[in-house]
Amino acid sequence: MSPRRLSGMYTTRQGRKVAWRVRFSSRAKHVRLVLSGGDGLGIVAPNRWCDDPESLLIDHDAWIDRMVARLERVAAESGQRVDTEHRLPATIALRAVHEMWHVTYTPSPSSRIAVHADRTSHVLGIFGPVGEKERVARALRRFVARRAEGALPLRMRDIAASKDLPLRSVRVYPARSRWGSCSTQGDIMLSTRLLFLSPELAEHVMMHELAHLSHMDHGSRFHARLDAFDPLAREHARGLREAGPLVPWWMDVRRDGS
Ligand SMILES: [Zn+2]
Repeated sequence: MSPRRLSGMYTTRQGRKVAWRVRFSSRAKHVRLVLSGGDGLGIVAPNRWCDDPESLLIDHDAWIDRMVARLERVAAESGQRVDTEHRLPATIALRAVHEMWHVTYTPSPSSRIAVHADRTSHVLGIFGPVGEKERVARALRRFVARRAEGALPLRMRDIAASKDLPLRSVRVYPARSRWGSCSTQGDIMLSTRLLFLSPELAEHVMMHELAHLSHMDHGSRFHARLDAFDPLAREHARGLREAGPLVPWWMDVRRDGS
């Protein structure tokens, strides 16, 4: 028997493809399947689990197919293609700042990945061992982080200034658990992931954090203020809850910290 594989590509009976990976967890008591547009299909398993992942996938074919179809629908409705196959991107749409980057991959004998971003033509050149997906993904994340640092705080300060609100500090960070946050001291953090949202949704997050400058909780006075900043706040909040799949898989840092 060949060694058990811990990651791969699964094709459902209906022909939908999804990348999968086993993630061992000391806290998991049972095996469970988790699907997201960013991650593909995760098989979360107790450390001692030793069944064959591929037969587990076949057993859950109908569920997987339904979930992948749903993800694709959410992405299509928001005008994006969801990448469940974990391919490196040919284009990167930073919708929040109206930028479409074309990515070129040029293999070279160098052992390091070099990135060249041409701000005029919006061509992002990747050079070096371009077949090493995780390393290229890390380089792409660095590129996105730099664009986020260059664009998001500036936009946020513009919005604050237009509402005569003093801002202490605005920083960007790569967290995936939240789109933004505001400390009790009034320091605002924005996720680099905002770049993948529509400008309206990204600005909604900024206005949400601005509303926290006067009300730290999510009570009625907070919402009244947010509604005053963003008349479509409720619609945008709903859009945000479904926006996770808009963030490409390569934005996710792997468990090994790479
Ligand atoms: Zn909040």
